Amino acid sequence: MGSLNKETIQKGLDVFQNPADSKLITHLNSCVHCGLCAESCIYYLATKDDRFIPARKVDLVASVYKRYCTHIGKVFPSIVNARKLNEETTEEMVDLLFGACTMCGRCTAHCSIGVDISFIVKTGRTMLSNMGMVPATLQSTVNAALTSGNNMSIPTEEFVDTVKWMEEELIDEINNPNALIPLNEPDKRVLYTLNPREPKFFPLSISAMAKIFFAAKESWTLSTAMYDVTNYAFFSGNNTEAARIADRLWKEMEHLRAQTLVLAECGHGSRAFRWEAPNFLKKPFPFKVETSVELIAAYIREKKIRLDPQKIKEKVTLHDPCNLVRNGGILLEQRVILNHFIGDFVEMTPHGIDNYCCGGGGGQLAMSEYNERRMKIAEIKAEQIRKTGANIVVTPCHNCVDQLSQINIHFNLGVQIKTLAEVVADALILD
Ligand code: SF4
Ligand code: SF4
Repeated sequence: MGSLNKETIQKGLDVFQNPADSKLITHLNSCVHCGLCAESCIYYLATKDDRFIPARKVDLVASVYKRYCTHIGKVFPSIVNARKLNEETTEEMVDLLFGACTMCGRCTAHCSIGVDISFIVKTGRTMLSNMGMVPATLQSTVNAALTSGNNMSIPTEEFVDTVKWMEEELIDEINNPNALIPLNEPDKRVLYTLNPREPKFFPLSISAMAKIFFAAKESWTLSTAMYDVTNYAFFSGNNTEAARIADRLWKEMEHLRAQTLVLAECGHGSRAFRWEAPNFLKKPFPFKVETSVELIAAYIREKKIRLDPQKIKEKVTLHDPCNLVRNGGILLEQRVILNHFIGDFVEMTPHGIDNYCCGGGGGQLAMSEYNERRMKIAEIKAEQIRKTGANIVVTPCHNCVDQLSQINIHFNLGVQIKTLAEVVADALILD
């Protein structure tokens, strides 16, 4: 960790310096230690380690606040558990706030008095970010996005090659030369985004969405300059870097003069842009923003696409991404879609806004130093999936797909993991 100098400590404490931030001060001072949040958290449930109780994470940030910002904490620190921001405290903060929280918000939803625990965790992460203590693995993902335009540093030529390859596959599959994947075309109705995992590891999900756009006769384009829907600076706690990433997507919308920005299946990317970007950038959207989940549901409602109910006969279950569902409120659309053409659909227990996190959120997939812990907490999700008896797990989030794919192998579940666009594309009826 290295020694902390006065200047670094002050940078960390700067998060408490806005006297107008009544939300932060209120939530730092409100926990009544009832303990009800413990059973909400997959880290605590899977390990029974008291350090992982959500209220302990709140206490950690609050203890620093008390030490430097309250009279009693300055004079009698031990009475109110006020702690100095030193090596020991910051080490514990990195381990608990980065390494033991997916910012899933389940504890916040269950807190008896409404403490916004994931907001406090995020504030603690911002404190560590100000001090240059974001885990190097997570910071390198943010740096890749800032320097190359996508979090996997995919060169533009490689991205274009992948898209053209998928276009050829799609044209062959549906035997129609008009099934194109447009690049950089101005004045379209939709600018569509991607999670860089798609061109890198799952290119078939690009052609799946292109097939849906083709069936719906959509006016759309991808951009080679800025297609990355993710924003890992949202998880590192660096709001300036999060704003820079969001601004690039915003500027590409203006550059291509599209009417609607459609966010690919990515929970945190949707949250960071749709619900947070106007806060980061301090301006309202001049264009429409929606998720691909909402768009596909609208295509079905408006009868722009038709799906074959006989196509998928296996039992299907749904994993609700925390950022899209609990934090974003997009709960019904994916069920409208699946119930429209899946004959054997089964919900997990619990599901919807009460669903358990898969364990891959909050930047965990980028922080390889916590891999062992990440797979330990994943046993909660593995058990949920096993109990459904499903053969296919659908989830509208590429990060969740990645974590669920690892869970599938690690816990020997023997299921298929698919995005929503992939199952819809499989069942499309094309004229
Ligand atoms: S946000 Fe999720 S992972 Fe973090 S403490 Fe709360 S329940 Fe646990
Ligand atoms: S449920 Fe809320 S009030 Fe109770 S211990 Fe947890 S954070 Fe504190």
